[in-house]
Amino acid sequence: MNNARLLINGRLVTGDSSAEVINPATGQAFAHAPVASRNQLDLAVQSARAAMPVWREMPIHVRRESLIAVAALLESNADALARLLTMEQGKPLVESRREVTVSASFFRALASLDFTTNQYDSDGRRIWLRRRPLGVAAAIVPWNFPLVLMSMKVPAALLAGNTVILKPSPTTPLSTLMIGQLIAEVLPAGVLNIINGAPELGAWITAHAGIDKISFTGSTETGIRVMAGAATSLKRITLELGGNDPAIVLDDADPKAIAPALFASAFQNNGQTCIAIKRLYVHDRLYDAVCDELVAIADQARIGDGMNPVNRFGPVQNEIQYRKVLEFIEEGKLHGNVAAGGYVPDGPGFFIRPTIVRDIVDGNRLVDEEQFGPVLPIMRFDNIDDVVARANRSPHGLGSSVWSCNAAKAHDVAIRLEAGTVWINKHGDLSPDIPFGGARMSGIGTELGPHALDEFSQLHVINANAPAT
Ligand code: NAD
Repeated sequence: MNNARLLINGRLVTGDSSAEVINPATGQAFAHAPVASRNQLDLAVQSARAAMPVWREMPIHVRRESLIAVAALLESNADALARLLTMEQGKPLVESRREVTVSASFFRALASLDFTTNQYDSDGRRIWLRRRPLGVAAAIVPWNFPLVLMSMKVPAALLAGNTVILKPSPTTPLSTLMIGQLIAEVLPAGVLNIINGAPELGAWITAHAGIDKISFTGSTETGIRVMAGAATSLKRITLELGGNDPAIVLDDADPKAIAPALFASAFQNNGQTCIAIKRLYVHDRLYDAVCDELVAIADQARIGDGMNPVNRFGPVQNEIQYRKVLEFIEEGKLHGNVAAGGYVPDGPGFFIRPTIVRDIVDGNRLVDEEQFGPVLPIMRFDNIDDVVARANRSPHGLGSSVWSCNAAKAHDVAIRLEAGTVWINKHGDLSPDIPFGGARMSGIGTELGPHALDEFSQLHVINANAPAT
């Protein structure tokens, strides 16, 4: 699989250098990806700037049809994209296929949005509120959901009339680059450029004078660097960053009924999900029952190479993250009791069994930091005020959830949780028609929802004297 190409100015080109791509199920390189030089970034930005005036003046329905054509290409190539995604990312093939389908559905859903133009009279003036595209937007994406996360950005940016530079993570570039090959003929040259690069490429993009907007998804640490880099030219930014999502199980929940959803919400994508449950607080009365149910599910989990359909969990995506998760597990052994998993199966690859740590309290790294891997700490509480304070103690504020049989009681707790989204009796539910964004150090701005185009456009006020009546 050595035919991956960059997409620059409508042309599929080799990188000025290349880098190995590792299959995390084997720990071995299975392909090379092109790596863009700084000069190739400049060419991509030049082409995006050159394409922008024509693209933004096109009637919106033409841009909309292009996005729908991209969605159709994703759907008709879902099998090939899914295989590549599993090989580079590690997730089971069925999940990769779902990722491609969800990505296509986001293209379709966001393609249906429109700008609203408001007109009103104000004390002798006639005011029009319009929106204008920002110019060249960069979309920078991490390795956990390479396709879904780019499709929360790219269609909104393009529909709003911007041209785009898309940068996948260097550890999962291939499926995104394959999309470049599929759509090279669909969009006018320069409208969407896809470039992979060395670790410095993100910083070059962030500071590039020819780019007007950065839409970034990744860790909070990198988000801080993005904000600093973007400040030099006052670029607009959207930051979707890390989280340490708490879930709170109230005393009237049904442990057996909620355990499968709790488990799936914590361990989906091997816990490598920004909105995974990363801290589980369970009322004292249900604590043992919930722990036992989750341990039973964890013990049955089939893990292994995602290309084998019997496996429900693949490896951790890369070696750096794998080593971090193992450190978190050691922290769990020190401060709590490992009730499931906690070890690495024999054989190659970055595999870790789903790990549950019970009898642990707040105040250690496993609970207080984002693990971003298959390890879940479970803590007790017996007082609502106390658990709300503990849930809110994190500097993050991405998602959170409350689990209860009593809707009103759950709602009363939900409104006290400081997060971008609070779910009730579920966790991590995303939909293209519902805005998503983080509070506090989990981000700035939102994606998806009816106002998704606002993040990629500037308010444009026309102020005239109102015609005499
Ligand atoms: P990361 O921050 O290391 O990398 C994300 C992207 O930024 C990659 O493409 C990387 O190459 C690029 N990058 C690296 N340095 C850069 C710089 N200085 N300037 C600009 N770009 C740079 O994150 P990761 O390890 O790939 O992903 C995991 C993190 O992403 C977790 O913290 C997770 O919670 C977060 N995440 C957040 C969301 C969300 O929507 N809030 C979604 C998924 C993942």
